[in-house]
Formats: sequence, C-alpha cells, structure tokens
Amino acid sequence: MTTDFIDGEDLFEEHAKLRDHGGEAIWAEGPVWIPELRAVRFSDIPNNRILQWTEVGDRISVYTNDAEFTNGRTLGLSGEVIQCSHGRRRMEVDRDGDVMPLVETWRGRRFNSPNDVVVKSDGTVWFTDPSYGIKRETEGHPGDLEYGDHWVFRFHPGTGEGDPVIMDVEQPNGIAFSPDESLLYVSDTSFELPDEKPNPLGAHWIHVYDVQDGRLCKNGRIFKEIEPGISDGLRVDERGNVWTSALDGVHIYSPRGRRIGFVRTPAKVGNLCFGGDDGRTLFIVATTSLHSIRTTVRDAAQVIRTP
Ligand code: MG
Repeated sequence: MTTDFIDGEDLFEEHAKLRDHGGEAIWAEGPVWIPELRAVRFSDIPNNRILQWTEVGDRISVYTNDAEFTNGRTLGLSGEVIQCSHGRRRMEVDRDGDVMPLVETWRGRRFNSPNDVVVKSDGTVWFTDPSYGIKRETEGHPGDLEYGDHWVFRFHPGTGEGDPVIMDVEQPNGIAFSPDESLLYVSDTSFELPDEKPNPLGAHWIHVYDVQDGRLCKNGRIFKEIEPGISDGLRVDERGNVWTSALDGVHIYSPRGRRIGFVRTPAKVGNLCFGGDDGRTLFIVATTSLHSIRTTVRDAAQVIRTP
C-alpha cells in the first residue's frame, strides 16, 4: 500500500485534511491568494480563462474569459497581481481587472511564454521563460524562439530593464527564493517536451543558485530530482523547506534536500501557493481542481514582507 500523507516535521495542522474546492479546469496553473478578496485566482490554460475561488461561500467563478493564456502569478509589493501571459508573450499587471504590460521584450526580441514568477523584496520581478506556450497549441499561439533559448529573467520595474539571470536550465518553470533570498530555486521540466511527448533525455529536477548582490545567480547545482513527474510550480516556506508539485501530489524537502512531507492528490499537480487569513493554508491546483490543506507555516516571501 502506498502512503497518502507524510508529515515528518509538524508541517501540517493536527488532523489536516485535503479539501476539494472543484474547478472544472482542463489544466489549472498559477494560483495566488489575494488577501483583500480572500480569494485564490488561478489559470485554466487550455480553456484560456482565469478562475477565482472565494473563501466566502466556497465558490469558484470565471474571473476572465479570453485571458490570452495566462500561467503563473504572484503579488507585487503593493498587492497588485503580476502574471505571466503565454498568449501575449509578456509579463503583465492586473490591477482590479485593468491589465497592463510590465515587460514584453529583451533587446527587441519577444519572450517565449513566461511561465512562473516571483517578486523579490526589492521589487524586482524574476520569471521563467520556457517554450510551452508557443509550442503547445492548447497553451498559446504557435511561435518561434526569438532570442533562441529558454532563460530566467530579472526585471526591474523602476528602470524598465530586464536581464537574463539563468541561462543553463533547459526549460525553466517553477521559481522561488529562500527566506533570506540568498538562494533561488528553479525547476527544469524538460522531461516533458513542448509537444507533450515525454522526453527520456530531459530533466525533472530542481536547481538551486546562490544569489549574490541581490541579482547574480552563481554556483548552480541540482537540489533534487523530482519523482514521479516534474516540479512544475514550487514554493519555499518560512523555514526554508521546498514545497513542489509532482505527478502524484505535493512533496516537501528540507533545505538540505531530505524529503520531510508529502500529500497525495487525486490528480497531477500543476502549482501551489500559501494563503488564507493567516497565510498557513496551502492551496494546490491539481489538473482540474483547486484543493487546500491547513499547514503550520507561511510562504517565505510573506514573512519577509509582513513579519
Ligand atoms: Mg509552470
């Protein structure tokens, strides 16, 4: 018999149970908790729409149709929603339904299809740019690699400049900082080809980099190989543990890479985020549905901003 739940370090509330909030998505991605709405907004990429679950009434509704294939999202320092758009090949900001571009090109070339994003405490926006949204017809519009590769970028909203910070991950996907922002975790999902075929030569691991001077990524190394499946979205909690999506659920690793927790889900996990009034509810999007489970920890980023 396989284990459905492991909690080696009191990461979950006593008697915590995985709840199913529904969703009817084809492939759910990019969840973020929006405190003032007490809601989780997330992408349903192949349906080209954005869904929103509100805590009051435990209800899911359509936030936007024709969303231009958004994917990952996070909150900026003033609470605005920053999201990745496959369809528009850019990073954008959604302020109460008013969607504006944040950054669209690097040296005049469009990005591939920004996939996931994190905001550092200095306000810089770090995002991954694999090619799924220009190679999978169900996740965007067909297109070419205009700068010829798949990189991680750092964008400075103050100066309007963006630069590649990681160039040696084949298909960068999930991204998160350690609590003190001295480490950056980035997953490589090249184990799944953009044409949806498996790639036995590809990677399904999480890399970790030392962040120097708050902007340079050095000394990249493999943090963990994820099995089964891939690490699509990932988060880091206030203790530095890495919470990653996988084929069978959410796996949790200590900062040293030891597996200390696991929650099985009914379907493949695309992404996850912490939220709720106290920041200690873990929200998981697993293919069609949004799930939640009560934990004892908050997201590392939330703790930096609201200690
Ligand atoms: Mg992703």
